[in-house]
Amino acid sequence: MRIRYHQPIPNFYNFENPTSPLNSISDDFLNELKQFILDNDFIGVSYSKLSDDFKKEWEIDWDNILILKYVMSEEILKMDPSKEKTKLEDMEFQEFAHKTFEIADFLRKNNFKADLIHPLDDRVSLRSIAMQSNDCIITRSNMCMFKEGLNLGFFMIDTSIENFPFKKENDMLWVKDFCSTCGVCIDRCPENAFDDDEKIKRKVCTAHKEGCSKCVLLCPFFKRGYDKVKKRYDRKN
Ligand code: SF4
Ligand code: SF4
Repeated sequence: MRIRYHQPIPNFYNFENPTSPLNSISDDFLNELKQFILDNDFIGVSYSKLSDDFKKEWEIDWDNILILKYVMSEEILKMDPSKEKTKLEDMEFQEFAHKTFEIADFLRKNNFKADLIHPLDDRVSLRSIAMQSNDCIITRSNMCMFKEGLNLGFFMIDTSIENFPFKKENDMLWVKDFCSTCGVCIDRCPENAFDDDEKIKRKVCTAHKEGCSKCVLLCPFFKRGYDKVKKRYDRKN
């Protein structure tokens, strides 16, 4: 069984949601949860608290989101675009989807409500949810970048936990300024997939059809990493 575009999310859970879920997590259990997530090969976690306006805009009624981030394999990313590459990317995606169900089960077993948010369903934008975490930024190449890397995939769990350490301010906004002086992704895109307003032309970009990753591979954030780019930016500004 696989997760597919616009198909109902499969039931990979081994446990039901608790009938009276807890809504507060202790520091000790939060640490245990984070360790369990890292043990499942994710690189880190972020948390989004969705505002009332956001919920209204997307017509949803849940608001505490656990974001699980994984590093997309560099080996696959560096392959030339091909059907084989997209197949490998999908296999990696499905593998982490299964791990996300295990993490939801871990929460359910410990009396928290936990439901995977469908990662391939346009009813709510995962990138918009990610931005509500104040822990990522959309780059000029239209990637959702967290500090752990530009080549991250992520899954999300909607949970009853209301006291995650939600970030109130985004300290990555400087990236917009950095991108405004760079533009390598736009200049070197083999498909000219950016319009005059620098928005990606989805029908032209071949990332999903053939697995093009050129704009990621050329980006300083991928080549040097977030911290090094930030240090250099701070020295100059
Ligand atoms: S290549 Fe340059 S402009 Fe494009 S996302 Fe990376 S830093 Fe920003
Ligand atoms: S993935 Fe490839 S085609 Fe799409 S914007 Fe990036 S470089 Fe251009």
